Amino acid sequence: MGIVVQKFGGSSVADAECIKRVAKRVGETFEEGHKVVIVVSAMGETTDYLLDLAGKITDNPPKRELDMLLATGEQQSIALLSMALDKLGYSAVSLTGQQAGIFTDHVHAKSKILWINCERLEEELTQNHIVIVAGFQGVTERNEITTLGRGGSDTSAVALAAALKADVCEIFTDVDGVYTADPRIVPDARKLETISYDEMLELASLGALVLQPRSVEVAKQFGVKIHVRSSFNHNSGTIVQEVREMKQQMEKEIVVSGVASDLNVVKFTIFDIPDVPGTASKLFSALADDMINVDMIIQSQQRDDINDISFTVTRDDREKTKEVIAKTKDIIGGRNYSYENNVAKVSVVGAGMITNPGVAAKMFETLAENDINIEMISTSEIKVSCIIKAEYAQKAVAALHSAFELGE
Ligand code: ASP
Ligand code: MG
Repeated sequence: MGIVVQKFGGSSVADAECIKRVAKRVGETFEEGHKVVIVVSAMGETTDYLLDLAGKITDNPPKRELDMLLATGEQQSIALLSMALDKLGYSAVSLTGQQAGIFTDHVHAKSKILWINCERLEEELTQNHIVIVAGFQGVTERNEITTLGRGGSDTSAVALAAALKADVCEIFTDVDGVYTADPRIVPDARKLETISYDEMLELASLGALVLQPRSVEVAKQFGVKIHVRSSFNHNSGTIVQEVREMKQQMEKEIVVSGVASDLNVVKFTIFDIPDVPGTASKLFSALADDMINVDMIIQSQQRDDINDISFTVTRDDREKTKEVIAKTKDIIGGRNYSYENNVAKVSVVGAGMITNPGVAAKMFETLAENDINIEMISTSEIKVSCIIKAEYAQKAVAALHSAFELGE
């Protein structure tokens, strides 16, 4: 039988009891005859705790040292899970990112996996060992420990599944799968049986927070089938896969699959930028050079020769964005700038939008009926997003969920 990669998040391994329960579950999979590779996150809130601790030492910890510190979280859980499996009579072995051959680039705190040397993993699997790999971490060619950004264990798991050509990458979490909206906001939200990579990417980056977006990118690139499911029951969850394989559902004319909101947004506006070729390029190249991800952009013409440019970034990039604007001010011109924290992005997502017009119109209409003002709009083939005031985010999600008839 083939290889199964299973990832258990922090809440699934929060304490000794949880770890024992995970060990039992892993054992069941092994008994079914699969070769099993397990990826775990740090226990419970360990990563937050470690970050906090570093913050008590210094406001600005060196990124290298932060990675050194954070990587210890996952190292605890792999060892404990391996012990729990040993106690149940299985031969298990825990491996750090480095021991598992996960090589990354040098960008500390958000490094990318470059390749995986599967030699050790394959050797262990051949000996019928259950292999437990520390998520979220890797190593550079120069043996420096790196981490993959918050939620990075998902990406570790998917990348391992790709490298080992596993049959499936099961992501165990504390919810039953991917929902049409956050069930805490929308009580009649429905669990989706399947969702395409592209839709999941949109939802993941929109704050649905079930999977780290990068993990979905990797899955899409390598065709890894992801199964998001609960670690607390045996129900089947949501399968994330290529649209092609979802044809049956598509024929049922599912236009919109889900609604999401994201509060991790800051809106910047730079006023009175001279309207000459090259200004936008200078500004956004400077932002890109500092690794700041810009999401929405609007350029609005005020007078013949002057523009305002608004754009959004995530909250943790706010301070860096201010610095970049200050740095580029002399090059691009512009009178001054402002930023707003109190905004949210709400989005409707659906692969069926490509062939069904009117989704955007219906979204705007729904927001208007609820007296919610739209500050910015962006669209893609499978998504329409609006920036609105943060206090209306929940109301907007609930209204859109019902307008698109997504509930039970
Ligand atoms: N422990 C890391 C975090 O809390 C990685 C993960 O959970 O996936 O972000
Ligand atoms: Mg997670």
